[in-house]
Amino acid sequence: METQTIIQTAESSLLHTYNRFPIVLDHGEDVYLYDTDQKKYLDFAAGIAVFALGYSNDAYKTAVKEQVDKLVHTSNLFYNEPAAKAAKKITQLTGMDRVFFTNSGTEAIEGAIKLVRKYAYNKDGRTDHEIIAMKHSFHGRSMGALSVTGNDAYQAPFKPLIGGVRFAEYNNLESVKSLITDRTCGIILEALQGEGGIYPASKEFMQGLRALCDEHDILLVCDEIQCGMGRTGNMFCYQSYDILPDVVCVAKALGNGLPIGAFLCREECAALVPGDHGSTYGGNPLVCAAANAVMDQFEELNLTAHVKEVGAYLYEQLEQLTAEFDCIKDHRGIGLMQGIELTIPVGDVIKKAQKEGLIIISASGNVIRFVPPLVIEKKHVDEMIAKLKKCLQ
Ligand SMILES: *Cc1c(COP(=O)(O)O)cnc(C)c1O
Repeated sequence: METQTIIQTAESSLLHTYNRFPIVLDHGEDVYLYDTDQKKYLDFAAGIAVFALGYSNDAYKTAVKEQVDKLVHTSNLFYNEPAAKAAKKITQLTGMDRVFFTNSGTEAIEGAIKLVRKYAYNKDGRTDHEIIAMKHSFHGRSMGALSVTGNDAYQAPFKPLIGGVRFAEYNNLESVKSLITDRTCGIILEALQGEGGIYPASKEFMQGLRALCDEHDILLVCDEIQCGMGRTGNMFCYQSYDILPDVVCVAKALGNGLPIGAFLCREECAALVPGDHGSTYGGNPLVCAAANAVMDQFEELNLTAHVKEVGAYLYEQLEQLTAEFDCIKDHRGIGLMQGIELTIPVGDVIKKAQKEGLIIISASGNVIRFVPPLVIEKKHVDEMIAKLKKCLQ
């Protein structure tokens, strides 16, 4: 199909929930994407922090292809080897004891919400438990996940949402404390807020939350869907705060493009039992084979060390850019999850960047978000900065 025909065909049938860019992506190579007109783009979005390994990782591709030939799906009425292996690996990497595999990040959040409620229910039999979430957070679009997402515009048309959710100020421990009641069963947050505008949590805040949760027997839920899987230079972002959450949600880069997410917990809070939760596809052999290949590649390529190095370089370069351009108001982030806040509309810069052959995305608050494949090299950072400069001039 011609590019314009593809776009028209899509627009004539897809529910219009996205304002898509008029680009039809065709294939990827290394850390570059090509559209149907063979235009080449440097990819600094990675399909929204998903394609960690880039587009030319042979070990990943082979693992997925071999599993397609072997067995794609079994249902969870039976065991399968890729899921067993993936479960072992992801629990070890997170420091958690138990995992439930989902098909998306949103579903991981749904599971985590059910888990914290069930944990509290087991203690006191009440059904009026409360969850504290953060303002400017993002946890997904289903009714449960939306209920803990601190964004009024996303929530407004869909009320009533699930009850008992209170929103605290991010990085403000007193604000969280003031919302705690004898019904609070969970506190959920991203250690580095992504969609909300690239805001890292302070050490005092994370450690303060941990202490608060210990004191009140509240479960601390870390949404690592975007900031996890090596993106900040640690396998999981909370690991840089010297704390262990009770529940961890993962997705995005876990499957490197295949739909797999997970929620994990410590043994003491593994409150869900047969009949409480389920998923037909969740953790099927195909997606788990992908996740295994991803986790193996992290080790093989020593990706977290690589992210620390290239992330620090990106940080320096963006600091320089911020000093150079008045239209950049602020620069924040960790590793390969950084953002610059602009005084000019980010939408215009993003469109200009596409013309220059650079894919970047936005985050809330007029922020350009940099979440490239984790395998990018310093030369790609240089290329991105050169292209971005042209767009800001
Ligand atoms: C993307 C994202 C989600 C939702 O994940 P989906 O796979 O889109 O359902 C939840 N939390 C955070 C922090 C995210 O970035």
